[in-house]
Formats: sequence, structure tokens, C-alpha cells
Amino acid sequence: MTYFKDLSEYSYAHSEFHRPGTVNIGWLGPNADFNQMELDEGLLDIVWEYTKISVAQFRGLHDCEFCPPHTSNLAERNGEKRLLGAAEIRVFAKSGVIYAAPDLIFHYMSIHKYGPPEPFIAALKNGPRPSSKEYFERLSELGLTWTEKSALKSKPVRFRLVRTKDGLKKEIL
Ligand SMILES: [Zn+2]
Repeated sequence: MTYFKDLSEYSYAHSEFHRPGTVNIGWLGPNADFNQMELDEGLLDIVWEYTKISVAQFRGLHDCEFCPPHTSNLAERNGEKRLLGAAEIRVFAKSGVIYAAPDLIFHYMSIHKYGPPEPFIAALKNGPRPSSKEYFERLSELGLTWTEKSALKSKPVRFRLVRTKDGLKKEIL
């Protein structure tokens, strides 16, 4: 995944998802140091809630760069499973700042103890939550489309399409 410095201006390739005042959070890369913090279960519950609403869907699945390939995309909390690594989340601060983070931020915080900057933590705690009407009003005001992630029942199957003489065939990886 591409590395962006925390709080740098959001300018990811999905420019259609750029809105003024949007900054990057949690785009960790293998060669970049990041702050760590003690696990805060209450905060992780909040982050988990945000990962339910996907804002910018990627075309493929991104892996955590600190874990073995294909091991970081399935997350579980409170008995609920969710696929991470294919979308971004949005968090709104009272100040008007919009935070754009990969949904893998839940993985980074829960597994690698990533400690995001304080203003982002404050926005998580004090901003409108994805369970509120206000949250969706903010998304609509900004013209951001979103999808609600469905809970995963089992591990996602990875496959590639292979061309055979009978046409395209799914090959399970
Ligand atoms: Zn990882």
C-alpha cells in the first residue's frame, strides 16, 4: 500500500474522493516509523464501527506490509468478521478537518499498536459516529458515496481468472 505521512493533505489517486480539508491518517508503510500506543479497547470499538462504512472502494485488496501476505484482511471483533484492505473510512473532526484512512487502520491499531495523532483520536471520540444520522449527512453534504460492509460469514476466497480453451475459468488460490 502507498505510504502517506499522517496529517499530510489527502491526494490519493482516487481524486474523486478528495474534498478540501481532507488529511491522511494511518497509511503505514514498511520503511516508515510510526508511533505506538497501548491498546485502548474502547477506542478500537469506535474504529471498528467506522470500518463498517466504506467510502472509497479500491479495485483490489491491500495487505498489511508488516504481516505475511494474505493474512491481514480478515478482522474480527465482538464476534463480527469483516474484510479489511479494500476501502477507506472517513472521520469528521468538530474543527471541520476530514480524516481519510485505510480501513486497515483497525488492523494497524489492534495488531501493531499504531498510535494515531491525538487530533484524530479526539475526532474518533467526539465526531459523529457511523451509527448516527449526522454522520451520513456529512457524507452526503460532501457528495461522498458510501457502502455498508456486510458481515463476513467465512474467509474470503481468493481466485484469479485463467484463460482456457473453454473460456475464462476461476482458479482458486
Ligand atoms: Zn499487520
